[in-house]
Amino acid sequence: MALERYRAKRDFTRTPEPAGSAPQPSAGSPLLFCVQKHLASHLHYDVRLEHHGVLLSWAVPKGPSLDPAVKRLAMRVEDHPLEYGDFEGVIPEGYGAGVVMQWDHGTWRPEVADVDEALRKGDLKFQLDGYKLKGSWVLVRTRGYGRRGARAPAEDGDGRSWLLIKHRDEWSGALDITEFAPRSVKSDRDLEEILAADAPATWASGRPGGQIGTALAALVEKAAGRRRQSVVGRRESVGRAGKTRRRSGG
Ligand code: MN
Repeated sequence: MALERYRAKRDFTRTPEPAGSAPQPSAGSPLLFCVQKHLASHLHYDVRLEHHGVLLSWAVPKGPSLDPAVKRLAMRVEDHPLEYGDFEGVIPEGYGAGVVMQWDHGTWRPEVADVDEALRKGDLKFQLDGYKLKGSWVLVRTRGYGRRGARAPAEDGDGRSWLLIKHRDEWSGALDITEFAPRSVKSDRDLEEILAADAPATWASGRPGGQIGTALAALVEKAAGRRRQSVVGRRESVGRAGKTRRRSGG
């Protein structure tokens, strides 16, 4: 997959997400990996692995689990530009409208000789070296078991449905990593703080547009409240300073 599908879904005059330049092979340098916690219509975790100058991407609704007994559904989505790996912020409207957090970031290394072949086979084993996720993992394509779409073979034959599984090693365990380490590795912010701190021009209209889920709607309300408070706070301090100046000047 190249970036056509990624670009077709987005209007880059209206989203802070990168359009992506021509794919550039990273000669010899470590391969980037990241997990972006994305609250859009639903909360999910986007797992991205650099390959041939783009980011292979899977949306994992429940997020990664360190427990080898837990298989997490991972929907293969369109490749993303390499620059996307640093993105954190608010997508004000359109596709994926919501809040994106840099939940984990680091490098990855395939445990297979040929990544393209592994993707074709639907069995990609790899090592992660992030802040939160480390050690050996596998992404394995399902034959459609355990999915609502399993009743519709055509829908299931698209090969988008994979499972993300931790291999047993020194980095596996019972710790619920999404609960234990919920914040950004880039800014140490939570989703509400990222939303409240972001001030794109479109924020003036009040909130990210498009179809937003109830969790995002609630977060927007809280962040808007936080924002109103800080604006009022600034106005009050400006007002006090003005009075002081007038008094001393008069
Ligand atoms: Mn996403």
